[in-house]
Amino acid sequence: MATKYQNFINGKWVDAKSGETFENRNPANWNELIGTFPKSGKEDVDEAVKAARKAYEKWRLVPAPERGDIMKKAGDIMVSRKRELAELMTREMGKVLAETMGDVQEGIDTAYYAFGEGRRLFGKTVPSELRDKFAMAMRVPIGVAGMITPWNFPMAIPTWKIFPALLCGNTVVFKPASDTPATATEFVKILVEAGVPEGAVNIVHGGGGAVGNAITEHPDIDLIGFTGSSDIGKKISASAAGTLKRVSLELGGKNAQIVMDDADLKLALDGVLWGAFGTTGQRCTATSRLLVHEKVYDKFMSDLIERTKQLKLGDGLKKDVEVGPLINEGQRKSVHSYVEIGQKEGAKMLTGGDSATGDGLSDGWFYQPTIFTDVTADMRIAKEEIFGPVLSIIKIKSLEEGIKTLNDSIYGLSSSIYTQDVNNAFKAMRDMEAGISYINGPTIGAECHMPFGGVKETGNGHREGGWAVYEFYSEWKSVYVDFSGKLQRAQIDNY
Ligand code: NAP
Repeated sequence: MATKYQNFINGKWVDAKSGETFENRNPANWNELIGTFPKSGKEDVDEAVKAARKAYEKWRLVPAPERGDIMKKAGDIMVSRKRELAELMTREMGKVLAETMGDVQEGIDTAYYAFGEGRRLFGKTVPSELRDKFAMAMRVPIGVAGMITPWNFPMAIPTWKIFPALLCGNTVVFKPASDTPATATEFVKILVEAGVPEGAVNIVHGGGGAVGNAITEHPDIDLIGFTGSSDIGKKISASAAGTLKRVSLELGGKNAQIVMDDADLKLALDGVLWGAFGTTGQRCTATSRLLVHEKVYDKFMSDLIERTKQLKLGDGLKKDVEVGPLINEGQRKSVHSYVEIGQKEGAKMLTGGDSATGDGLSDGWFYQPTIFTDVTADMRIAKEEIFGPVLSIIKIKSLEEGIKTLNDSIYGLSSSIYTQDVNNAFKAMRDMEAGISYINGPTIGAECHMPFGGVKETGNGHREGGWAVYEFYSEWKSVYVDFSGKLQRAQIDNY
């Protein structure tokens, strides 16, 4: 029997006011219904915001170390439930168990980082220009945070936002992706069990148009943490501008890996297979373009094709499966349409190119890992985010050409170079236009205590992860204490 899930508003599990629901199914086996979820709307968001606003008045006064203790407890619960959460996630969105275990682990690491940050949240003291006067700047919470998340990291991404937001003293209204509402609900249950008080965290399920819009336009929401596509990010930015909200946007990518002629080719091969086909290519940091030096091109390509053909597709809960399904039918159609575009544009398809069928694959949204060569930088498959297991290969003659091609993108999230030459490595580190660069590592593999985000249309300049995200979820307040007992006029009395 499928589980009936609810919204969590003001400390209570409730249905959508409309009474309507939507379904969540397993992309590896569409016959498996995971649960039904409330199809909420603006009126549910209004209730959640009211609860979050009320809770904010108390939560902001809880000492940050005490808030941190709750994050620690949430991390401990996640540790004890790690495998069960990962299995649910694999059933809900398809990535293989090793990856969903990693997704939960990222949540655990983020919880423990937040625990530590509760005893830091550093402010600054500086000398005042006047005598008998003290000057300091401290970090204060902002208010009610609206969180809108994608489906490809259903635990990690919500934790990247919600742990720091709560730790800083904000309260939360959370709308997870419609494709991964179950993992999101489990996360909220963990927060409640760990001791987050009534109203401080609320989850409202439902579509981006209805619930998402109601959040971004809401006059009583102060800030938005959004991760998703650049198209929706732009809409959110415009809609949140009406109430001048603080908005953090973590958006799409078209990431490239360079393989130089001096690279360790075996390492580079392992890297690109993991970068391009891990999570079935459905990562913001997925390797979507491979830029290979002409001197090693032929050898590298033949090894790459051979290894790609050997990748084992299937249900991510099964042992030895390396590549799971795409998230849903719409995504499979979208990926296939890019494959057709690539063929029409004149790229040469060396493997893949269609839905994957056969034993255990017929009831899911599987797609063959696909490789195009003879790709030129102006082709759509070299420019647009495909978000599937499709890799476009471009031959390069030099490091300079590699970096120029890598930078020829509206996006700038992740980048990678394989080289044994320290000069190449440092030039690439400096010149690759991306928020994240890997030397001798694939484009995927971020660690939660480092800033995460991108340049150009990948975002709007904020970062998640590590210390950087705490800047977004708090703001500076400058405080002057004058203990001179007289009126002192800055800039006037002392000069
Ligand atoms: P998406 O379609 O942009 O959806 C993201 C979230 O926005 C979902 O919760 C969605 O709700 C909601 N939404 C949709 N329309 C909305 C609207 N008009 N107003 C407010 N919210 C709205 O992205 P996705 O398919 O879930 O995820 C894939 C994309 O995310 C890719 O582009 C990927 O690169 C990007 N991503 C970026 C990062 C990063 O850190 N840079 C990380 C992971 C993924 P529904 O699910 O109900 O439609």
